Amino acid sequence: MLHYKDSKEYFIQRVILAQGQVIDLVCFNENESVDSVIEEIMTELQRKKIELQTCPLCKSSLVYPVERYQMNDMEWKVLMLCPNCLCKRELVVDRETVRELLKNARLGRESIMKELDNMQKKNMEEEADKFITALQKDHILPIDF
Ligand SMILES: [Zn+2]
Repeated sequence: MLHYKDSKEYFIQRVILAQGQVIDLVCFNENESVDSVIEEIMTELQRKKIELQTCPLCKSSLVYPVERYQMNDMEWKVLMLCPNCLCKRELVVDRETVRELLKNARLGRESIMKELDNMQKKNMEEEADKFITALQKDHILPIDF
């Protein structure tokens, strides 16, 4: 234990977060709940993550990375594109964040594809229904084929 002039003791608590980030917390009070501090950090990280994927102009949350470039061991430059208003912005993030952004973009794309697929199927069903109704009503002439 080290002592400051004002005799306040402190200790360093190393916290390793789920995503591999290492944070050294300087605690001045041993009774201070480290858990609540970690919770605060996690909330902050979560907020930042949401911020990364939110368009600053139109507030769309569908912003995704279109280009990425490794600057050094720790940092990546990513070009984020908003599919809604097409605004682009460059961000410098760590490797884990790049990975996360790509994963989210893939999940987003998959859900869009699924949606499109469903819409297509639904349209086809509707078209088929119309076709059947027309057939039943005898509205289809040989010229339609
Ligand atoms: Zn936008």
